[in-house]
Amino acid sequence: MSTRSLNLDDTLYDYLLAHSLREHPEQAALRAATRGHPHAGMQISPEQGQFMALLVKLLGARQTIEIGVFTGYSALSVALALPADGRILACDISAEYTRIGRPYWERADVAHKIDLRLAPALETLDAELAAGAAGRYDFAFIDADKTGYADYYERCLQLLRPGGLIAIDNVLWSGAVARPAQDDDTRALQALNERLHGDERIDLSMLPVSDGLTLARKR
Ligand code: SAM
Ligand code: CA
Repeated sequence: MSTRSLNLDDTLYDYLLAHSLREHPEQAALRAATRGHPHAGMQISPEQGQFMALLVKLLGARQTIEIGVFTGYSALSVALALPADGRILACDISAEYTRIGRPYWERADVAHKIDLRLAPALETLDAELAAGAAGRYDFAFIDADKTGYADYYERCLQLLRPGGLIAIDNVLWSGAVARPAQDDDTRALQALNERLHGDERIDLSMLPVSDGLTLARKR
């Protein structure tokens, strides 16, 4: 027995999915539709989507932010967990990727909750702050360009209410963060992980979920 988190082999991963996954049919369909995409590996795992949906419900979140939409699986997962008047400020720069997801959002009857902004995320977040939205958000998910994470984190921290939660994806970066960095993405993630560890503005947990998911609760 180990007190560390388990490395899942295929058999155990299949067991985990078989005994916990509760996907909406449109989530399963969107995953199937994304499977053949050249960047399919960017999509979050279904158990991570379900975990974030649970977090959103635990928080009683209404106003949320997503940075990095791709074909829309994480947005769909969060939107399904939000109340009828809930909203996602969904940031991406790619019309090509995000248009794949919209029909699934529509068929799941949550498209009205997803306010997609096609622009560099930093511009969208700064516009929100300039419009006086600081402290108005309950939850944020950061999953876009890794060199932008530090700026997204700072903006999200301002946009969140005390008690709000930021989830940051890929913080373990396939293990690369624990070795000398060879590229800018790894360096950015290492610097952010180090900074968050000492950041007194948040309560912190770094989870070995999928490629590493950090949860930062605004104090
Ligand atoms: N969360 C998505 C999912 O569950 O399928 C995966 C997101 S994917 C890892 C990263 C996304 O970030 C891509 O769709 C890309 O277009 C977007 N992106 C890259 N740079 C960006 C930027 N500066 N602002 C906003 N989005 C950006
Ligand atoms: Ca990711």
